[in-house]
Formats: sequence, C-alpha cells, structure tokens
Amino acid sequence: MKEFKMQNKTKAIASNTNVEKAKESEIARQTNVKRTEERERIENMSGEKLKKCENSENASDQKAQKCENAKSVNIAKAKESEIDENINLEKAKESKIDENTNEAKVKPKLLLHSCCGPCSTQVIDFLKNDYDITIYYYNPNIDTDEEFSHRLAEQKRYCEIVGVEVLEDGYNPDEFTCAVKGFENEKEGGARCPICFALRLSKTAKKAKALGYDKFGTTLSVSPHKNAEVINDVGFFMGTCEGIEFLEGNYKKKNGYKKSIELSKKYNLYRQNYCGCKFSKRVD
Ligand code: SF4
Repeated sequence: MKEFKMQNKTKAIASNTNVEKAKESEIARQTNVKRTEERERIENMSGEKLKKCENSENASDQKAQKCENAKSVNIAKAKESEIDENINLEKAKESKIDENTNEAKVKPKLLLHSCCGPCSTQVIDFLKNDYDITIYYYNPNIDTDEEFSHRLAEQKRYCEIVGVEVLEDGYNPDEFTCAVKGFENEKEGGARCPICFALRLSKTAKKAKALGYDKFGTTLSVSPHKNAEVINDVGFFMGTCEGIEFLEGNYKKKNGYKKSIELSKKYNLYRQNYCGCKFSKRVD
C-alpha cells in the first residue's frame, strides 16, 4: 500500500512536471511568436526607412540634376555673354577702322580748269578717287558769248550728274585778244596756244591759291590736238609763280580721249568741232 501510494505520488509529481513543462513550452512558443512578430515589425520598419532613404536619395539626385542643369544654363549664358562681348568688341574695332579709313580718305582739294564738258568727263573720272575736285570754267579764248554759254551750260549739266562743283568766271574775250596779239595767224598747236594756256592756267593758279586748294590742274591735255608736255611746262611755271602745286597729266593716254567721246555720247553732251578761238575755226 505504501508502495502504491509512492507510485501514485510519483505519478502525480510527474504529471505536474509535465504540466509545468507544457506551460513552459507554451510560454516559450508564445515568446517565440512575439519575437518573430517583433522581428517582422522591425524588418518592416527598416524596409520603410530604407524606402524613405531611397526616396530621399532620389530627391537628392533630382536636386543634384536640377543643380547641374542650372549650372549648364549659367555656363551657356556666360558663353553667350562672352560671345556678345566679343561681337561688340569686333564692332567697335570695325567702327574704329571705318573712322580711320574715313580719316585716311580725306582727299586733297583740286581746282581743275576745264575748257568744256566733253573734255572734263574722262579727266574727272580718272581723278575723282584721289581728289576732291572743283571744276573751274575760265575760257576767255572762246570766240562768242553764245558758244561760251553753251559750253558752260553743258559743263554744269555734266558736273551735276557726277556731283562735282563748278566755279565759273565771266566771259571776257578781251583778255584773250590782248594776250595773243601778234599770234593771230598761228596754226592750232603753234606759238599762240602756249600763250592761251598760260592765260588760263595763270588765272586758275591764282584762284586755287586764293581759295585754299591743295593743287590745280587742267583738262586740256585730253585733246589729241594739244601737246601735254607744253601744257605741263606752262602749268608748272604758273604754279611756281603763285606758290601752288600743278597736277601734271596727259589724259589722252590709255584711250583717254576715246573714253571722253564715249562718256560725252552717253550723257548726250554738246561736242564742239573746233578748239575755241576764232582762229581755230579758220580752214587753211
Ligand atoms: S587753238 Fe585752242 S588752244 Fe590754241 S589759242 Fe585757240 S583756243 Fe587756245
């Protein structure tokens, strides 16, 4: 009996032990469940943080990209500004060059004696790039007032076309008549003509000097009937006397006379068939 009681007691203890163990096991299981839940919660939190972090990184990347774009825009603007500055500098340089060129283009003033419009055409064309030309119409050698006025009118008409000023002297045939007295019977190109040149070039030199021209010259040498060497000698002498430079020339050269005829035809200028004085009309 005693032994039986012991056995039952032992069994009871064992049963209690099992119950305790079962309880402990249950507690351990529940603890594991909680731990698993806690781990999952932590993992979720980490995931969200990670996501936030990623989002933040993306935002930072976008900001960095924006910043980079803004930087590129600024660089482009700076380049444009630099290009504009260079363009302005180039323009300023060009403007300076133009100013200097214009300064360099101030041409010497030339008082150019002319006997008629047709003779002046080629000579003006030949000299206009190098000189600021004024035509001086002084021709007392012309035989009549009517012829004098006709030639003067054509001279003015042509000069208006080409934008050249005309300075005229009145008709005074006595000056010529007195000057060539004794040489009336000379042929054209003879001893009377240098006197005629001297009369006209002396007056031109005086006028050029008085009005402040740099040089004086004449269209006379364009004619094939006139000796350019004689004209240049007379011009040089008169220039020396008056203290002003004579512009030498032989404008009939290089088809100069032919060109003067072409220009006269082009502008329908009156072309007389004699030199000017009544002696040059004589038929020998
Ligand atoms: S021919 Fe001619 S250049 Fe000679 S004197 Fe007469 S107008 Fe003068």
